[in-house]
This record gives sequence, C-alpha cells and structure tokens, in this order.
Amino acid sequence: MTHSSKYEAVIGLEIHAQLATQTKLFCGDSTAFGAAPNTQISPITMGHPGTLPKTNEKAIEYAITMGLACGSVIELNNYFARKNYFYPDLPKGYQISQHTTPICVGGTVRIKTLEGEKDIQLNRIHLEEDAGKSIHDLSETATYIDLNRAGTPLIELVTEPCLHSADEAFLFVTEIRKLVRWLGVCDGNMEEGSLRCDANISIRLKGEDRLGTRVEVKNLNSIRNIKKAIEFEIERLIEITETGGTILQQTRSFDANNDTTFSIRDKEDANDYRYFPDPDLAPFHLTNESIEALRAKLPTLPNALQKQWKTNFKLSHYDVEQLSENKEEAAYFIQLTALSAHYKAIANWILGPIRAYLNEPNASYEKLVTIQPYLVELIELVETNQLNFSVASNKIFKEIIAVPQSPLQYATAHNLLQSNSADEIENWVNQVIAKHPEKVIEYKKGKKGLIGLFVGEVKKISQGKADPKLSTSLLEKKLAE
Ligand code: ADP
Ligand code: MG
Repeated sequence: MTHSSKYEAVIGLEIHAQLATQTKLFCGDSTAFGAAPNTQISPITMGHPGTLPKTNEKAIEYAITMGLACGSVIELNNYFARKNYFYPDLPKGYQISQHTTPICVGGTVRIKTLEGEKDIQLNRIHLEEDAGKSIHDLSETATYIDLNRAGTPLIELVTEPCLHSADEAFLFVTEIRKLVRWLGVCDGNMEEGSLRCDANISIRLKGEDRLGTRVEVKNLNSIRNIKKAIEFEIERLIEITETGGTILQQTRSFDANNDTTFSIRDKEDANDYRYFPDPDLAPFHLTNESIEALRAKLPTLPNALQKQWKTNFKLSHYDVEQLSENKEEAAYFIQLTALSAHYKAIANWILGPIRAYLNEPNASYEKLVTIQPYLVELIELVETNQLNFSVASNKIFKEIIAVPQSPLQYATAHNLLQSNSADEIENWVNQVIAKHPEKVIEYKKGKKGLIGLFVGEVKKISQGKADPKLSTSLLEKKLAE
C-alpha cells in the first residue's frame, strides 16, 4: 500500500465473553453448548408475563474477577438496565445490560509487540445477557432461531480507541483469551462463540488528534478473522480517502471466504434504546470486603509468573512466554521446579516431550502428576550425564508413563545408562573409524565438520549410551593421530 505511511489506523475493540457459569444470568436454565435447539428456554428466558428474573451471583463474581485482573475500578453501586430493541432472536424485546454503571471501569491489558510492551487501555467491562442465535445457513428460504443462548451471562469488554494495527488487535485478543481462561471466567472457545469481537476502525493522518469516522465490523469469531477484517478495512478506508471519497459510518460484516467486509447498514444517527432501570431487578451493591475477598483469590497472573521465572530461573523470554500459556502446564512447571533446580532442563522437557505426550489420545495431567518424582529423577539422570536425552525422552519417559517406576532402575535393568568408561567408548570410537575410511581421510584433509557425523555414528552403535562429550574428545584425539 503506497499511501499507508501517511495514515495512522485507530482501532477500538468490543469483546463479548461468555461467562463460564452453569446457568444463565437471571434464571436456572443451563448454558451448556450444543444442546438441541430451544430446549434451554424457561419462561424466564422467554420473558413471559409474570416471570421474575433473579441474578446469578457467580456471574457478578466472574465479572469482578476479570476487572481486578485488569486493574479496573470496581463499581460499588450497580443496577441493571433494559436496552430495548426488536430483533427476532431477542425473545423479551429487550436485553438486560448495564448502562450508566458498568461494573468495571478503566484498567489495562499488557501486550508484547515487536516494538516492546504496550498497555492497552480499557474503557469498561460491563455485564449483560446474550441474545439467541439466528441460523441462516440451514435453509435457502428460511431463517431458523435457536434461543438456547438467550440469557447467557456475558461480559462486554470495551477498549479505548488506542490500538493502531491489526497485529496489535491480534495480540490483544490473544491476551484476553489467555486471561479469561487463566481466571476460569470464560472457556475462551471462539469456535463455539464463547468469545466474539466487534472491531471499530478509523484512519487519520499521522499527527492528527481528532478521530476519523469509524466503521464497525461485527461478530468476528476467530482471532485470524479479526486480524484479516482490520487489515482489509484499513486498506479500504485509505483507498476511499486517497481517491477523494467520503467514509460513511457503517456497520459491516466479515466474509471469511475472501477476507473482505461488506456493509450491513449505514449507522443511523444515535440508536435510541430507551434504556431504563429494570424494575424487576433491585440495584445491587457491593462491599469493599467482598471485592477484596475476590482479589485475594486471584491466581498469580501470567505476566507476574514470567517476571519471576526470568529473575529466579534465568529463563529466556521465549521459555517464560510458552510456559505461561496454559495454567495447567504452568502449574506443572511450578511443581517440578520445586523438586529440582534444573530449571532450564525442566522447561525443555515440558515444551518438548511432555507437550508431545499431552497430544496423545489418552494423555492426562493426572498421569503426569503420578509420575512426577520419577520424571524429576529422569531429568536429573540426563543432567548428570548418566542418560542420553534421546534415550531418556524417547524410551524411558514412555516406559515410566506406561508403568510408573524408577528410571534409574529401568535403565540399569535394560543396560541403557550412558557409559563414562573410556575403554568402552574407545571400543565404539575404533569401530566407527574403521567403518568410514574415506570420511577419515576427508576429515584429515581439513573437513572438520565431519566430527558431527562420527559422534552420531558412535551414538548409534552404542545405542545412545556413549557420553557425547567423551566420545567427541576421544574421536578428536584419535583422528588427529
Ligand atoms: P458504541 O457503543 O456506539 O459502539 P462506543 O463509543 O462505546 O460506541 O465505542 C465502541 C468502541 O469503538 C470502543 O472500543 C471505542 O474505543 C471505539 N471507537 C470509538 N470511536 C472510534 C473511532 N473513531 N475510531 C476507532 N475506534 C473508535
Ligand atoms: Mg458498538
């Protein structure tokens, strides 16, 4: 794009996250995904006359937990408002939301861009109920409606217009998904619609303060699509501006088939939702004590763990980033590092063989916890050169998973311990040299890189038992003769 350097993109995101409660925000209907259509719809969900909503306390706790994790200010005096509009998937004719008192105000979420860390400012996080779902692709001529989702608790997290590229938006949503999963407030499952994003995008000339006219791309349901939609919109807005056109404030939709967006409506001036406090729901008040109790229950957050691990364990940025992706994995790492000080080796084992194991069909963390002392023993055997890493990870690790047992005993019984005996290694080295006379000549002529091949051969015929350091030095000595 030739003109892109003149412009700055401005992006604000609205992310809807389905809270991981068993039941809906105002009644006991199940929120389980995948049930037969219209089976989780009591009269309360349907808003039948005479029904009374009752607030799900867990949903409020989850919203506060998310706010605390982002450093938001928690609103003590809250009420729910009715947001009135007509839509076929909205059975009550209004959505219960928050209006003037979002439960969490402000806050930040840190992303790590190639240029460095950046704090993305939140405007607010508020609680609201979800609508049902219109299904357009089951029939050529009809739209089907499944109201199971209606009334499911959501938080809507709204950023300030402070993101400036599709990549930043990508990193931000990735971070939010990680955070909600870490806190256990939302499963973060975008394919099932548990996390959805609307992206507001405008452009302006670099150095300009005023915001440009924005377009809003609705209902993006994957992080990839968020990135693609924003990339497409930025280019489109620049193109319009460069060719003398006028940007219209529009609501648009993303077409994942060709990574483009299309207009679904020009924005009417201001929507009039005729908000008013829901008369069936009393305002709810929070106490500082209840908020502090939730703060005390917050798990250590990934960023804090990363800092600790860098400082205490001297691990690389890549390692700490990877190890704080997933809470169970991080917990396992913490357990192992409490038992052994080979921190870097433990990190490598988790990111290598353990992740590979966890991809297998019947793998589980319970199993890994059962074999924990044996795994630590195994890692120490490798770190003290008693076992070769590939024998340890490819063979013995599998054996101790199959039958929890001491790796030292197993390795001894199967003659797998690495040999530090000079005689034994010399014997293997001699065999290898005898087997490759041409390579020996090449090496002697100066092709020193061949040492790797010789070491590999010694490893092969010793079945991994030859200590590579010893075999290398012995090979070098012999080949210099
Ligand atoms: P609405 O509720 O009408 O969608 P808000 O003012 O609450 O409007 O903004 C929604 C989102 O749009 C926020 O994330 C905000 O940062 C973002 N936003 C507002 N104006 C702009 C703009 N001109 N360019 C980019 N993003 C914007
Ligand atoms: Mg909006």
